[in-house]
Amino acid sequence: MATTNTTTRRIAIVGVGQVGGAAAYALILGSTTVAAAGELELLLVDNNIALRDAQVRDLADVAFIINRGTRVRAATYREAGQCDLIVVTAGSRQTLGQSNLDSASRNISIVRNVVDAMAPFRSDAVLLVVSNPVDLLTTLALEVSQLPLSQVLGSGTFLESARLRGLMAEQIGIAPNSIDIYALGVHTPSTQLTAWSTATVAGVPLSQSIPSSTLVGMQPVLERDTAHLSEVIVRAKGATPFGIGAVVSSICASVLGDRRNVRAVTHFQPEYGCCLSMPAVLGREGIAKTIEVPLSEEERRKVEESAKMVRGMMEGIRQ
Ligand code: NAD
Repeated sequence: MATTNTTTRRIAIVGVGQVGGAAAYALILGSTTVAAAGELELLLVDNNIALRDAQVRDLADVAFIINRGTRVRAATYREAGQCDLIVVTAGSRQTLGQSNLDSASRNISIVRNVVDAMAPFRSDAVLLVVSNPVDLLTTLALEVSQLPLSQVLGSGTFLESARLRGLMAEQIGIAPNSIDIYALGVHTPSTQLTAWSTATVAGVPLSQSIPSSTLVGMQPVLERDTAHLSEVIVRAKGATPFGIGAVVSSICASVLGDRRNVRAVTHFQPEYGCCLSMPAVLGREGIAKTIEVPLSEEERRKVEESAKMVRGMMEGIRQ
């Protein structure tokens, strides 16, 4: 039998509940693109062993049906740390009515423990954090993993940026991929920022490409819907797995395929002293380059206020 010389890309998903499961599903469906002409192996890790094994079996069925050679198996934390890319979705979901602080303190200890358990990491591994609060936990993962700055990132405001473009497209009748606008900063409904000052269509500032009455009328509605839609979804179905699952699959494809796509993801910002979302070029090294966004004074002040909260929480964690 002729042998083929294919590269196997390994992605570990740590925490295979709603979000980890949906991310794995999206990765298998998009395996040809994600694995960049190679084959894909998914390694699933969870401290709930029965759940992990059930997810392996269910997702292996998807892989059989798609039939592109993708393999799905259970793995240890140590094996996860040796993958090309590791997605951290472990955590306790924030239930409505539960304080951000309760959910944050549980997830701080979960993420610290899982990152610790995976170390030492393969030297070129890329670590993608999804668990919330994502900016704080990405900053924590960066410190605990001891990986280079470029190799640790979080999903950040990627989803909100895509949602913003999609909702705006419906309003102005221009395709989402022809609109250049980002949700940036610290990822919570009250802290993230819509970078109106740098938004363009075909390189033309938004203020010149659509009538000002349309722009002024839609700005508050788009900001509200972009920031709060996740809460609406959680209220009705308990989690938001599909959107973030697609985000994970897209980031993995950009990194493993060295695609150089620009995406709003959370990564270390020396100017703010923590991880928060700014547009970045994604490549095999993770963050290939940060795009400096010339924010207005008011926008910069808003980002600094929320970065101060993340830095304060990091100081509390270090003590
Ligand atoms: P979930 O409860 O369905 O799944 C979490 C999984 O993590 C569970 O299977 C649990 O057993 C596992 N886990 C807990 N501790 C672990 C440990 N020490 N080691 C390995 N696995 C462990 O929750 P979910 O809905 O999948 O959400 C997961 C996380 O993703 C939450 O923090 C949530 O807030 C976050 N999230 C982030 C975004 C985003 O945009 N960044 C969007 C949606 C959800």
